[in-house]
Amino acid sequence: MSIIRLQDLYFKPYINKVEIKAIVKHLAEQVKADLPKGEVPIFVGILNGCFLFAADFIREYNGDCEVSFVKLASYQGTKTSENVKQLVGINEDLTDRTVIILEDIIDTGTTLQEIYNIFRHQNVKQLKVATLFFKPDVFRKELPIDYIGKSIDDKFIVGYGLDYNGLGRNYPEIYQLTTTPKMKNIV
Ligand code: 5GP
Repeated sequence: MSIIRLQDLYFKPYINKVEIKAIVKHLAEQVKADLPKGEVPIFVGILNGCFLFAADFIREYNGDCEVSFVKLASYQGTKTSENVKQLVGINEDLTDRTVIILEDIIDTGTTLQEIYNIFRHQNVKQLKVATLFFKPDVFRKELPIDYIGKSIDDKFIVGYGLDYNGLGRNYPEIYQLTTTPKMKNIV
């Protein structure tokens, strides 16, 4: 891994593939261990950032499960001041289901709060949250986060599904924003 440049910013190597794999595997094992025998959960990945994490997570999850993806879309309501949030993509009936939200990263928790509130009103049996990364220093909500892959500093990261201005999602490793602009080995 070496320093990468995405548009105007430089990012330094932060978490390599081996560590990511170990974190994801551990998360999947924890989730499985907590579920009653025979329980078939539905994992709901929050797009776009979670697509690589979710793909790896479910392959590490050793048991029957369903998988779905949603996206939080905001649109203008009928009143101009209204900013309505809607989950796009979920077609399954979640009544009496164990729903486990898969998030790539939880920062302030605002996004998760919106999603959580929507799912909570769907008569689910159980609602849990598993996130790959968590920034405890900026988290502002009272929500339960059941499974955390890794808690990280409040620094912007990219790679493994996470982007900067749409770029960087395809890197298999995680990179962290660096404040030192003049670095060698820029890709
Ligand atoms: P929150 O609503 O928790 O403040 O922010 C959640 C969303 O912000 C994430 O789903 C992600 O899209 C974006 N985000 C927060 N921190 C980071 C980060 O360090 N890197 C990237 N690429 N996105 C982030």
